[in-house]
Amino acid sequence: MSSRKAHKTDEAEKTSRADATKQTRDIKGVKRVERTSNRSSLPANALPLELHLAQAAYMRVINERARKKKSQQNSNQTNQKQRGICYYCNEKAVVYLRYADRHLCKRHFNRLVEKRFSRALREQGLKAKQTVVLAVSGGKDSLAMMLMFKKLLAKIPLNLIAVSVDEGIAGYRDESVARARAFAKELAIPHYTYSFKDLVGKSLDEIMANREGEAACGYCGVFRRQILNDKAKALGADWVVIGHNLDDAVETIFMNLLRNEPSRIVRFFEPLVQDERFVPRLRPNMWIPEKEMALYALLNDVPFENAECPYAKYSIRYYVRAMINRLEDRYPGAKFRIMRSMLSMVERMKRRKAGERSGGDKNRATGNGNPTNATTLEDELARLKTCKICGMPSNSDVCMFCKLLEEIGEDPYGYVKRRGLKGRRDA
Ligand code: SF4
Ligand code: ZN
Repeated sequence: MSSRKAHKTDEAEKTSRADATKQTRDIKGVKRVERTSNRSSLPANALPLELHLAQAAYMRVINERARKKKSQQNSNQTNQKQRGICYYCNEKAVVYLRYADRHLCKRHFNRLVEKRFSRALREQGLKAKQTVVLAVSGGKDSLAMMLMFKKLLAKIPLNLIAVSVDEGIAGYRDESVARARAFAKELAIPHYTYSFKDLVGKSLDEIMANREGEAACGYCGVFRRQILNDKAKALGADWVVIGHNLDDAVETIFMNLLRNEPSRIVRFFEPLVQDERFVPRLRPNMWIPEKEMALYALLNDVPFENAECPYAKYSIRYYVRAMINRLEDRYPGAKFRIMRSMLSMVERMKRRKAGERSGGDKNRATGNGNPTNATTLEDELARLKTCKICGMPSNSDVCMFCKLLEEIGEDPYGYVKRRGLKGRRDA
């Protein structure tokens, strides 16, 4: 740089500094420095006023466009809703899901149900090439579940076997088992039927003949569970799959609350039982509401039996169901929320217990120094005895199954002899 140019630059710098500040003295003669130029009060990267205005105008246009787009989308959705059009496509909707405020067409509704089904199976631990016993009663839940398993076979190789338990309820179960058998045949899934009469010695109707006003479900549930478990074992199953839907699951939770049996709630969410005498259970329908299971079955031509068990109205489940349905009517999505809350409570209980087992601070774990009542199935199994008749895990010397068999005048040892038999395949 030439000396003249350098001199000019120095001058300019001095002038600008002089512009920017002015030294004064106050009345006490102390030096003060005051800013005198507006230009120098702006930050170094400040834009000129014109650019500010242009930028603000530009942002106004962008925001206006975004607002219009959003309101267009909203009005499209409102139109779609009013016209009953699917939320995802332009097809006519077959269902309106209140809890999600969405209409869905058949294709998207099927996709939603099947997605929930396969996600539940994945989360609960199903693996390829496993042997799966499907408990099929002939109702909508179990037959729709069988259809979804058949579809799943295209993606995952599985060994499927369908099993029906005929409790012996005249005019009800015989019809539904016939439907289960026929549908299994149509889907080319081997099917077995086991009856109370053959295995425990009496049909449910015979058991209830002298028990006017008593609930049949107590006998029915215990006998059916045991038969399913024993026959699944005889068939070499890795899993027994139960068709319980979301409503059934929420009802079971409430029933266990009413009976003060929290460990049963924990057990409901723990399919992997580490005891070789139990075949673990899968519940792939547990995130699908009952009405949606029924609609799925109807839309996919599943030939289910719609009649209700004549003993159902005497059970506690009947009242709990009515209460939960009223809740759902008033607060759409209540069933999902109850299930999610319960699941996260069980998870916390399990973590707390795991902390205690690994020598964690119990006072901190319970929050107040009181011992928690939380339990896991592992703890329960550790405390369980073995039934001296059938050899199954039990809270007392004789299990509930054997006690009930004795109560109805049947020989538990007779059942023990028959339980390991695979049975006759009927489809
Ligand atoms: Fe058995 Fe009760 Fe179900 Fe009827 S309602 S099939 S008696 S559990
Ligand atoms: Zn027993």
